[in-house]
Amino acid sequence: MGVEETLKKYSWILPLIQKVDRITRSTIMKNFRQKKKNFFPEGEYKADVENLINCMLCPNMCRFDCGTLQASLTETMSPAYKARIGYYLTTGKIDPMNKENQDFINLMYKCTNEENCKVWCPFDFSVVSLLESVRDDLNDKGLMPDYCKKQIEKLNKTNTIEDHNIYETYKEKGIENLETDGKDDVFYYIGCESMKFPEVVKANIQILKKAGIKFSTNLDKKVCCGGPAFNIRDLETAKKFAAENKELIESTGADLIISDCPGCVLTLTNRYEKAGIKIEKKILHTVQFFKKLIDNNKLIFKSDLPEEYKKITIHDPCLIARNLKDTESIRGIFNKIQNLEVFEPLYNKEFVHCCGWSGTAHWADKELAIKEARNRISELKDTGANIFISACPLCELGLAYGFEESEKGKYKILDISELLLKLL
Ligand code: SF4
Ligand code: SF4
Repeated sequence: MGVEETLKKYSWILPLIQKVDRITRSTIMKNFRQKKKNFFPEGEYKADVENLINCMLCPNMCRFDCGTLQASLTETMSPAYKARIGYYLTTGKIDPMNKENQDFINLMYKCTNEENCKVWCPFDFSVVSLLESVRDDLNDKGLMPDYCKKQIEKLNKTNTIEDHNIYETYKEKGIENLETDGKDDVFYYIGCESMKFPEVVKANIQILKKAGIKFSTNLDKKVCCGGPAFNIRDLETAKKFAAENKELIESTGADLIISDCPGCVLTLTNRYEKAGIKIEKKILHTVQFFKKLIDNNKLIFKSDLPEEYKKITIHDPCLIARNLKDTESIRGIFNKIQNLEVFEPLYNKEFVHCCGWSGTAHWADKELAIKEARNRISELKDTGANIFISACPLCELGLAYGFEESEKGKYKILDISELLLKLL
């Protein structure tokens, strides 16, 4: 803004300044002249300081729908408060090197990446993206929290998110491995979290076989997509996984990659691209691919659903509903199933509430994530259905924490593939 424009904009304040004493006047003028410097102290930041400021000065309009705030019921967890603390940490107004400020650093990780904030934000901010930029500065200062270092150590040691290579467990779990001959139509990219749900993986393999797809799984060569490293913002580790995955994907010859994990889909697409590694293949979530197969009569329903599976509710995975912006594939499949009653939860589609197990929150504060899972389970129970259908291994993992011990046998959480298999 030029001098003339500035004078015009602030002309209303001049008569007021003239009424105050000399010392106050000089303080006001000094602060006014230095306003840019005050907000943007000198220094090298990776953080998106400008948007952290914009968010922290907002009246917190999305706070009512932030999952971690609703779980903790403390204002500290609100999106604008997180942005404010992030700004203070990055600019040194809160000294991140002082051990007494560790709780403020931890706050930067108590975010479930669900992006409810973005749904409501008039500026389209994703607070998790803002926090990730603060994590970059914290990492540069060597302040990565121990619970994040532990995840990176596991990734580097086992190539997966477990302390053993979870892909190596496929034989004992009865999962079939199909190695590529370099001429596949589809590469079924199994997420490390999905390996915790062998019945889902087996169902996906069965469905692909029934549809006559030529595909491979390559479990002997498979590594994590690197998603956790992207969350933690260890980009060196993340890029190492991206390069390995690109090579494996290209070796299959497949033009289409499908994954059972929405986090893998997001990572293989947007996150790799932002990190400068582009995979020139079509990448879909399994639910999107199965919807196409059903629409094209490649998957034909031959049986009726067993009685106990005829009333269901949907838990939209945040990453499918909000990041992939797809709430219709899952519903499109349900529409084709006869005698299926679908009960929609109050918060659904792009307004879905998170299972609590996304992002870094469950490492930083497991109790917080469990409370968020309980909130979501309560919303799903309110539908009256006792079969909860989702399409994400992390949702399945997180939601399971939301039940009381006494009600565990009463409800079932299933992946859509498990339901589909009952029809084929
Ligand atoms: S994310 Fe948007 S709506 Fe939410 S507090 Fe920040 S600026 Fe306000
Ligand atoms: S991503 Fe979710 S938990 Fe994080 S600030 Fe936004 S709404 Fe809250």
